[in-house]
Amino acid sequence: MQDGFIPLSVPNLKGNELQYVTAAVETEWVSTGGPYVNDFESKLAAYVQAKGAVSCQNGTSGLHISLLLTGVTSEDAVIVPTLTFIAAVNPVKYIGAEPIFMDCDDSLCMDPLKLERFCREECDFDGEILRDKQTGRRIRAVLVVHIFGNMADMEKIMDIAKAYHLQIVEDATEAIGTYYTEGALKGKYAGTIGDVGVYSFNGNKIITTGGGGMMVSDREEFLKEARHLTTQAKTDELYYIHDKIGYNYRMTNLQAALGLGQMEQLEKFIETKSQNYALYQSLIDGMEGYSILPFRQGTRSNHWFYSLLCAEGRQVRDELISRFSEHNIQTRPIWGLIHQQKPYVNSRSYQIERAAYYWEHVVNLPCSTSLQTEQVRRVVEVLQAR
Ligand SMILES: *Cc1c(COP(=O)(O)O)cnc(C)c1O
Repeated sequence: MQDGFIPLSVPNLKGNELQYVTAAVETEWVSTGGPYVNDFESKLAAYVQAKGAVSCQNGTSGLHISLLLTGVTSEDAVIVPTLTFIAAVNPVKYIGAEPIFMDCDDSLCMDPLKLERFCREECDFDGEILRDKQTGRRIRAVLVVHIFGNMADMEKIMDIAKAYHLQIVEDATEAIGTYYTEGALKGKYAGTIGDVGVYSFNGNKIITTGGGGMMVSDREEFLKEARHLTTQAKTDELYYIHDKIGYNYRMTNLQAALGLGQMEQLEKFIETKSQNYALYQSLIDGMEGYSILPFRQGTRSNHWFYSLLCAEGRQVRDELISRFSEHNIQTRPIWGLIHQQKPYVNSRSYQIERAAYYWEHVVNLPCSTSLQTEQVRRVVEVLQAR
């Protein structure tokens, strides 16, 4: 018997999406004008309790604009993780700046201890400007990625940012809905802790607009400038006067229609993801050679992606991925580390160790919000059949 295909992560559009998109088409508001874009921005800002939100075409364009907001120039360097999707790093290069690759901690997010040590030992700080000794570049910002719906150690990272006058861009593309439940940052959502945060609504994210993104910030000047830069930096609507090089990055009403339908379901999706995560965990707990990576203590994670840790490493990982594939189950290793990718092999990296370990040992398991209990059991049976 051929079992049905279990995808890694697919959209779930069974709410009011069709109704809202139909309304957008019927009213012929399909482009960047129209009521849904503003509505989606305010609903999202309210959900994550940010002062405001500015839509964009995707997470990548949001990160590009965010780096510009923090004042990063082609002379500067930006500290970035190596364990991430490459879209988090490429915008540094769009600006002509240089990345400095940082290792992860056991949450798979940036290691704050190494970050601090790098700033202290590898840089000069004159009380205002932090400069990498090796390249002489000013480090203006750190781009933190909340991997797989987890939360980076933002308490420590914000302390470092304060000590060294660094701005924090949060790539929360995978972590919408994740927030602190304890500690100094209790109640704060991923994306709203640093200077600016970015969400993505790509097809594989927890909510999707096909392609789309959103920036959030509590800094009014950032929100204003983000809106300006994403709409061609136009200062006069009638005469088309522009004061800067802008971008055509604003979301369309069609995308936002989809997004509003998805927002209504976000909490339900998180609940389903959390339940399936708990089920995987209970079935895999105690199995020899395998475990499910936890999310950070003291947070409510959105449980976007589930990470299976294979104690034996790379060979078992690869064997496992092909076994799953033979059983019609889609799984995936972590992205190739960015400091080893062709465009970045000559970039600066700092003591990358744990990222390499996790790259070798982790397999992402199916996690769609439409995933059924029997399907989770089937995945675990394939894992056991060794
Ligand atoms: C999805 C993703 C992005 C990019 O978002 P797009 O909307 O696809 O451009 C950036 N960073 C990370 C970590 C992502 O997972």
